[in-house]
Amino acid sequence: MLTTEQWIERAKNLRPKADLFIDGKFVSAVSGKRFDTLAPRDGSVITTVARGDGADVDAAARSAAKAFESGVWSKTDPRHRQAILTKFSDLILANREELALLESIETGHPIGDAMNVDVPSAARSFRWYAEALDKIYDEVAPAPRTALTLITREPLGVIGAVVPWNYPLIISAWKLAPALAAGNSVVLKPAENTNLASLRLAELAFEAGLPAGVLNVVTGLGAEAGQALGRHPLVDKITFTGSPAVGRMFQTYAGETNGKQVALELGGKSPHIVFEDVADIDACAEAVAWGIFYNAGQTCHGGSRLLVHESVHDRLIEATIKVAKQLKMGDTLDPSTQISAIVSERQLERVLGYLDIAKNEKVDFALGGNRVTPAEGLEKGYFVEPTILTNVDNAGRIGQEEIFGPVLAVTKFKNTAEAIELANASEYGLAASVWTQDLTRAHKVVREVRAGTVWVNTFDVADIIVPFGGFKNSGFGRDRSLHALDSYTALKTTWINLGSDEPK
Ligand code: NAD
Repeated sequence: MLTTEQWIERAKNLRPKADLFIDGKFVSAVSGKRFDTLAPRDGSVITTVARGDGADVDAAARSAAKAFESGVWSKTDPRHRQAILTKFSDLILANREELALLESIETGHPIGDAMNVDVPSAARSFRWYAEALDKIYDEVAPAPRTALTLITREPLGVIGAVVPWNYPLIISAWKLAPALAAGNSVVLKPAENTNLASLRLAELAFEAGLPAGVLNVVTGLGAEAGQALGRHPLVDKITFTGSPAVGRMFQTYAGETNGKQVALELGGKSPHIVFEDVADIDACAEAVAWGIFYNAGQTCHGGSRLLVHESVHDRLIEATIKVAKQLKMGDTLDPSTQISAIVSERQLERVLGYLDIAKNEKVDFALGGNRVTPAEGLEKGYFVEPTILTNVDNAGRIGQEEIFGPVLAVTKFKNTAEAIELANASEYGLAASVWTQDLTRAHKVVREVRAGTVWVNTFDVADIIVPFGGFKNSGFGRDRSLHALDSYTALKTTWINLGSDEPK
């Protein structure tokens, strides 16, 4: 691993490509407009990015549709797609330092996490779907012997992938990998403030052999490029991850245009439910602290609520504070940093606003609560220290709303029924965890909690092998696993008349 000084030097010399990637090449926006992209660690301008709008989305969608119809990717032998996606995965790993730096400098993820989690995880997604794609068989339905009935899967066509800023590489890969593996063409619209790694990703896909037009990236503002993609008549499906408010806009865009499919993965307010018989308070405290402070709390399934039995409350809070105090907060480009910056000034203001609300709600600040400067030279950076709020009313704004920052809301409960009621008293249903040694109770609580993922005696174990998505206001789309591959295909029925059952 490079040193902090070496990473800073590399960041200074970065000359990232920041135009639109359409039809296999980088092009300026038709309007010629650009916008700044900033480094959360110090608020400095990294570069300017092309501000694509309706005209550029139209060019990208046409290119994607043309590539799809030509069959240059969609009709190829699965083993051809497998070979190219495997090479793409290898290229991601071969360019790990560059991709990690682009991701880290724009999102504020610690460089160590970008190197060890974001880039390898994105590479693994492409490899996993590449490996899967020639192992999936279609079906023959049990029709009478006078017919042969086939149920086959076909790619949908053009997929519009719209992603948020918190894990650009990982979330894009969760969508692109199955969509491409199934033979679709894609137009990716990254979030306004995190474009650079996605643009490089598309270039690497092209280098791996993905034909021009099969993967396009249109950078730009949500209300412009995002909306144009949502409304485009050549787009067959939108796969969206982001806020509930914008997710619903995509349903409206689809309803008002071509009725395209829309899959939504939205926010969360995921609870840990810790019972009095938790086996290991220290292990639980580790999971609770990492579950909310990793990536400075900007994780959709982050464990932002801690529901804890009153008898273990004080011990668990003490242990969690101990872990939180040991986490190293620092410069994004310092390889030893564990917690770094919030993505943008706007998000920083949002988090600080919630800390003011917390004061009004009269919760207790057991830890933190302030904006900080973790290292010299980063005074303009967007850093908030790990914060633990106790005596939170689950029905108040701190207990209900998604803060998306390093802020843990703690509420006590007295019994299992109350714990389940509190866990479900949320508009969200993305994830939860249950901490108990009682197997029967664990199973019962898992059944009762309305969430897309429930962990037992652990938290945030994420893997491409299992689906990820939510219930209720957390959306209904599912990324990851073979189910995601299915979601980028449509079923076709073929009914072949064989005439009489008599042998000829
Ligand atoms: P956001 O909804 O503001 O933006 C998401 C994407 O939508 C971006 O690409 C943005 O440019 C685009 N967009 C914004 N306004 C638009 C509009 N009017 N029309 C069309 N497109 C528009 O969300 P965000 O602030 O980038 O991300 C944070 C949110 O994402 C949080 O609520 C978080 O919980 C959620 N999230 C969910 C998951 C999940 O898997 N469920 C994962 C990560 C983040």
